[in-house]
Amino acid sequence: MRYISTRGGIAPISFKDAVMMGLATDGGLLLPEVLPQISAQTLESWRRLKYQDLAYEVISLFSGDIPTADLRRLLANSYATFSHPDITPVAKHGDVYILELFHGPTLAFKDVALQFLGNLFEYFLQADNSGMNIIGATSGDTGSAAIYGVRGKERIKIFILHPHKRVSPIQELQMTTVLDDNVFNLAIKGSFDDGQAIVKEIFNNLAFKEKHHLGAVNSINWARILAQIVYYIYSYFRVCDREGEGPVDFAVPTGNFGDIFAGFLAKQLLTAKRIRRLVLATNENDILSRFVNQGNYATGNVSQTCSPSMDIQLASNFERYLYYLNNSDGERTRREMESFARSGTLKFEAAVRERVKDDFAAQRVTEAEIAATIKSFYRQNNYVLDPHTAVGVTAGIAHKGDIPMICLATAHPGKFGDVVGRAIGPQALPQALASLAGMETRCEVVAAESAVIMDIIARHDKP
Ligand SMILES: *Cc1c(COP(=O)(O)O)cnc(C)c1O
Repeated sequence: MRYISTRGGIAPISFKDAVMMGLATDGGLLLPEVLPQISAQTLESWRRLKYQDLAYEVISLFSGDIPTADLRRLLANSYATFSHPDITPVAKHGDVYILELFHGPTLAFKDVALQFLGNLFEYFLQADNSGMNIIGATSGDTGSAAIYGVRGKERIKIFILHPHKRVSPIQELQMTTVLDDNVFNLAIKGSFDDGQAIVKEIFNNLAFKEKHHLGAVNSINWARILAQIVYYIYSYFRVCDREGEGPVDFAVPTGNFGDIFAGFLAKQLLTAKRIRRLVLATNENDILSRFVNQGNYATGNVSQTCSPSMDIQLASNFERYLYYLNNSDGERTRREMESFARSGTLKFEAAVRERVKDDFAAQRVTEAEIAATIKSFYRQNNYVLDPHTAVGVTAGIAHKGDIPMICLATAHPGKFGDVVGRAIGPQALPQALASLAGMETRCEVVAAESAVIMDIIARHDKP
């Protein structure tokens, strides 16, 4: 399988180059040249596979020339860190199914992709006998998943910037208790936005970027999307085990459109409307639900909510869907994205809006609704939802038709104990989080200046 850019400006490249490149050199995002379709017969042969074996079948459709034994080993290692034998178990609670994606090391769904991406980077770097320095900024929640993805890997160093004293104590501990030599926690004396601006500035310094082999693990990396396709198919099978063959709907708490785009691809792969519709759930940062419901993709101001990993008003993976809406016309996608960059808005005509509604339903969920759902779901089903999951469950219940609704649970509620506690009273912390208190930590408090960060990277980037 080879990869093209959504803006049509690059010659097709290999899977390896697509993973290592992240963003395409023409500014677009990378996508497979063609989307395979899975025959009913093949699908049947996948039905009984355990998670890692299903992951092998799905990923090998896209991963080109990685030898079978190598890919199987990468996947076995990636999911050995998960605490549940099913990796992503699914169970019925009340009227809906909950697909638990939080059994990885940092208790959030990003582990499913980042555990794999870290191993994939290491594998490709070994083949080239080279190394890389990953830099990223976090508002608290995703930094730890990135750190756990690469901790202990010899060829990779990771520098994660977080705003000093502005992340929750648990978030801080999840990052700073990782003591591996290749992990550098940098608490900047500034805001999350300052951190993001610094990372952007450093990446724009092309000489520095090349000299130090800088890389990113952000949500536009194709391997992350790819790894996320697997649990849609896995949970489809598990629900069919119980309900018999038939279409299902999914409800997905959405920020950068990465997770739900993986669902969109799963829907194309499975064919025959096995996945009927994806319910796109946003919090009050609702650019994507406005897009689906009103046909208008327009940025707004970001407001802070109790589901912070979805506080986004610019969905970095949206361009991938736009490319398919444009019938794989890269030139047109480039024009539209450039126009969007100037005006901050993209409007869609009626025929396109109909197609969007065939793929998605969408709902904006308010802060009050999130709290109410956590409360009612607990009362009715004795099951605790984290605030992100509650966004999806609110929309999932509202759009529940006569077929199964599978709601993606993207974080363990223990990660957001404050919000959950306000809704239903204090809950016991899971062992993985409780054990962090009192552990040794390592973190450097630094000025929020790109020169300072670049100096730190340069100092540590010695062979
Ligand atoms: C990142 C994240 C999301 C949003 O996923 P996208 O792929 O950005 O749409 C939802 N919930 C949690 C807990 C997350 O960390």
